[in-house]
Amino acid sequence: ESTLDPRLFVKKAKPSGQAGFRTEKSFETLNLNPRLLANILAKGYQTLTTIQEQSIQPLLEGRDIMAISKTGSGKTAAFLIPIIEHALKDSRNYTALVVTPTRELALQIEEEFKSLVVGLQLYSATFIGGTNINSDYKQLERKLQVVVGTPGRLLDLSDRKLLKLNQVTTLVLDEFDRMLDMGFVNDVKKLINLIGKRDQTLLFSATLEPNQMQLISALLNNPIEVKVENSG
Ligand code: ADP
Ligand code: MG
Repeated sequence: ESTLDPRLFVKKAKPSGQAGFRTEKSFETLNLNPRLLANILAKGYQTLTTIQEQSIQPLLEGRDIMAISKTGSGKTAAFLIPIIEHALKDSRNYTALVVTPTRELALQIEEEFKSLVVGLQLYSATFIGGTNINSDYKQLERKLQVVVGTPGRLLDLSDRKLLKLNQVTTLVLDEFDRMLDMGFVNDVKKLINLIGKRDQTLLFSATLEPNQMQLISALLNNPIEVKVENSG
């Protein structure tokens, strides 16, 4: 039964720095794989953003999450860092599927992933509309720890039995509000049914509409609920 009441999980944060919301917490405190930490620092990230501070630790512990935080607050690293830690511990069985509403976002997420896994031998692919589907086939020949894509292309590859959605262990729904705005609700529901049982589900959104709560709470298992609000 859902206990998700948007009024109950408001945490205030002051915006500072270009990432919007910075905390004082350094990445060194997270006990990450040393190479991952080095890659984070090489990107120029010094302290966690508020959404990262509130999400990364529970995600490392395997919790589901519903995270609401405005664009530019650092949500991508908030989900990729725990994904990479989990993938490093079980690279043969681990598959995260990151579903995004647009091609541009999908490409940005994979780019961030690649910059974070330099030297770590984890593999990703992006499957988006508007590209020749034949070039997707080759990428699916190798074990991928992270698959990023838009709903239509992911379903297409699943229909063709190329992408095995039932092997997904972690599902990330990024920009969920935009996904619904763009009319992907049925595609997302189909994807979720094909994935079936999974270890972890992460939902990120810039906004939260009360009429989405029923759908959201059906997707998540006892999630932590984080909402970062701009108080500045
Ligand atoms: P969102 O998904 O919330 O819109 P992004 O993940 O795209 O935000 O991040 C926005 C920008 O902030 C990106 O340029 C990203 O590289 C940068 N960024 C993310 N986390 C940090 C951090 N901890 N410190 C500095 N910059 C960061
Ligand atoms: Mg984002």
